[in-house]
Amino acid sequence: MSDRELSKAGFETRAIHAGYEPDPTTGAVIPPIYATSTYAQDGVGGLRNGYEYSRSANPTRTALEETVAALEGGSHGFAFASGLAAEDTLVRATCTPGDHVVLPDDAYGGTFRLFDKVEQAWGIAHSSAPGSDPEAVRAAIRPGETKLVWVETPTNPLLNIGDLAALAAVAHEAGALLVVDNTFATSYLQQPLALGADVVVHSTTKYAGGHSDVVGGALVVDDADLAERIGFHQNSIGAVAGPFDAWLVLRGLKTLGLRMERHCDNAEAVVAFLQDHPAVSQVIYPGLPEHPGHEVAGRQMSRFGGMVSFRVAGGEQQALDVCAGTQVFTLGESLGGVESLIEHPGRMTHASVAGTDLEVPADLVRLSVGIETAEDLLADLDRALGGA
Ligand code: PLP
Repeated sequence: MSDRELSKAGFETRAIHAGYEPDPTTGAVIPPIYATSTYAQDGVGGLRNGYEYSRSANPTRTALEETVAALEGGSHGFAFASGLAAEDTLVRATCTPGDHVVLPDDAYGGTFRLFDKVEQAWGIAHSSAPGSDPEAVRAAIRPGETKLVWVETPTNPLLNIGDLAALAAVAHEAGALLVVDNTFATSYLQQPLALGADVVVHSTTKYAGGHSDVVGGALVVDDADLAERIGFHQNSIGAVAGPFDAWLVLRGLKTLGLRMERHCDNAEAVVAFLQDHPAVSQVIYPGLPEHPGHEVAGRQMSRFGGMVSFRVAGGEQQALDVCAGTQVFTLGESLGGVESLIEHPGRMTHASVAGTDLEVPADLVRLSVGIETAEDLLADLDRALGGA
């Protein structure tokens, strides 16, 4: 498909056709894994299609980078070895010592650790504010110093919602960029660039890859200058996605839309079940009318996602027992794969924020609801909660 036709096409068409035309030599409909570090030149400096060395560019990675850009509605995409590699490269491309970043007060623990233990040591300060409260974010901005306003929505693991259009206005008033970690919602459910964001971050390890078989990250922007700075730093730092990893994420993206619909269907069934369960004291899901971010989520997301958190009436020990007691839900970190996962954020993904403002409740359980048969998921949770 031509670029023009593709830009007008629907999400799933872009997911399947962006970034690659059938190979002119063989007709291969799927991009090969270009396992090559270097490229033959037609005379000194005579590069074929710009390929020189695979840290700078690799055709499998190019296909992924063009696809993530097409799915987010951006002009440029960049693929990295992990979500955190993407984040670190972004910070280096946009901040210098003396600058400041506003983080969500319930940021993913690894993002907080990156800023608190790594970026801070290199002179980039940070402070936290609830991303769900644009006025609190405004108050946390340090005029002249704040270069990035960082937001996750929904957040991990409390599923708080940030109003992206309002946050973009707050960031831009201060001359800062709005960075949106779109890992939980995915480009299928939420389009941050269209709402005013400047940079979209993904841990492609999660829903984008979708099969728990790859670690990767991505950045997408819609601005040529910013793209140039990120591209320069991507090549200079070198934390790029390898060709096989790029290929796995690309394959995952082709079914993102289908998978997300099923993740959302199953999450809704799990939420309805947990709400009626006597052992559950609170269900946290942006699709619930009582969720404080429900109205904003309804405006900026097409559905409410596959992540569900809940608190149990029996405290930390019961939360640990539930996590240890499921059979269909696998006890493990990460999220966004076809299989359902269960975890205890306080002791697992968010252990690194214990004792800080970002500490999560001890009775909290997080589910990444997979695409298995819904009845099996409900029966599994019922058994683990002591219902059968
Ligand atoms: N952002 C979010 C919301 C995450 O959940 C994660 C990982 O769990 C990351 C970023 C970091 O990504 P990665 O683990 O691919 O480095």
